[in-house]
Amino acid sequence: MNQKKKAMTRSCRYCQGDIPDSYRKNRCYCSDPCSYAACQIRSKLQYQNLKKEFTEGNRIEKILQDFHMSHGSDIFIPAQHFENLNMNWALKPEDFIHEEFKGTRIGEYGYLIFDNNTIKIYKV
Ligand SMILES: [Zn+2]
Repeated sequence: MNQKKKAMTRSCRYCQGDIPDSYRKNRCYCSDPCSYAACQIRSKLQYQNLKKEFTEGNRIEKILQDFHMSHGSDIFIPAQHFENLNMNWALKPEDFIHEEFKGTRIGEYGYLIFDNNTIKIYKV
């Protein structure tokens, strides 16, 4: 095999084996079993991500529930209280609309963030 040809050889993304030259140029795996195994891993990762998001959702819902129980609905609560519990503001599975305000709904609770760094929680 000449040098040029060797340099062109592509490796399977799963087993790192050579992909036969006869295969389509855009092929990433050397065989169907490798392709299938890689697909299984992708599915598993997607499932783990979903599960992680679900668990995080439960954690945040619990925080909202605790504040809702201690403060009630429609009460301004300093955002700092949430920061102390490592609140995840980036988690936005659903919108929550209350009057003309748009907030975030997590499970049975919706919250709104106000400009003065306070939060209001509502049971949905
Ligand atoms: Zn392979």
